[in-house]
Amino acid sequence: MKYAKTVLDLVGNTPLVRLNSVTTEIAATVLAKVEYLNPGGSSKDRIATRIIDAAERDGLLKPGGTIVEPTSGNTGVGLALVAQQRGYRCVFVLPDKVGEDKRNVLTAYGAEIVVTPTTVAPDSPESYYSVSDRLVREIPGAFKPDQYSNPNGPLSHYETTGPEIWRDTEGKVTHFVAGVGTGGTISGVGRYLKEVSGGAVQIIGADPEGSVYSGGTGRPYLVEGVGEDFWPTAYDPTVVDQIVASSDAESFELTRRLAREEGLLVGGSSGLAVSAALKAAKDLPADAVVVILLPDGGRGYLGKIFNEKWMQSYGFTQVAEEKTVSDVLS
Ligand code: PMP
Repeated sequence: MKYAKTVLDLVGNTPLVRLNSVTTEIAATVLAKVEYLNPGGSSKDRIATRIIDAAERDGLLKPGGTIVEPTSGNTGVGLALVAQQRGYRCVFVLPDKVGEDKRNVLTAYGAEIVVTPTTVAPDSPESYYSVSDRLVREIPGAFKPDQYSNPNGPLSHYETTGPEIWRDTEGKVTHFVAGVGTGGTISGVGRYLKEVSGGAVQIIGADPEGSVYSGGTGRPYLVEGVGEDFWPTAYDPTVVDQIVASSDAESFELTRRLAREEGLLVGGSSGLAVSAALKAAKDLPADAVVVILLPDGGRGYLGKIFNEKWMQSYGFTQVAEEKTVSDVLS
């Protein structure tokens, strides 16, 4: 019988699929690595597994311990999944702007959540940062993974994502493109592919316009999970050959095209990565092989990128009116 012993054995080994429709102007082969097929729905399942393994090994997390992290998104899901399977308590601190659906995903996996007000100053005892620091100090056996500085984040991609790409392309990959958030993905995959190819594989970071990686100041943008207003230590700029910036409008247009034309319902940072990849691949020859990492699925964004009214409220698209039966039949 073929089965996984636990859901954690299903993390990683995600497939590559060729993009065919959004790439009509491109001579190179463009492949997407579909990370929403991880059990928790994103590439963050990989870092959660590696971070918890290392914390157990280093004695930072002991039986009965509690994982405390300020996170509302994919990292929380990954950590909650590992925590429940290994018998740890999980407490996530989230700002009150995080929507109900995202909160419910975390509690569905058994995590506890503490919601903090967005309107207070960072040094207020009620702030996101103060509350998570206090929980770590006061809960006995608490461990804070800190994805922005934990070296096991990039290491998980060095040990799994990078080798999978090299194996599945039979060493033919010439370019790798990923959005940069903590920088863990691009740094880990980039280091592996540089080493194994003798420096030949080009590593391209995709960044939302306004973020520090492409020279911005951290100006607001709407695409989630990528871009920063500071330089995290998980990011290793020495393995990155090029940073390509894209606007929210470009990222969201491609996110929507990926769903409609390629059958890939993915999040906005995937659209960003594809947008940047298409710019970088414009003049590449037919024997180039570009791999783009798509970090998560699109179901978490149905009320935003895939919602006409939300998109129009930010000036992105015309509202497509819902049709009546007679509209459809006429
Ligand atoms: N996309 C999404 C949706 C994410 O949650 C993240 C992680 N913040 C990223 C992209 C970027 O990955 P990394 O943190 O490894 O740079």
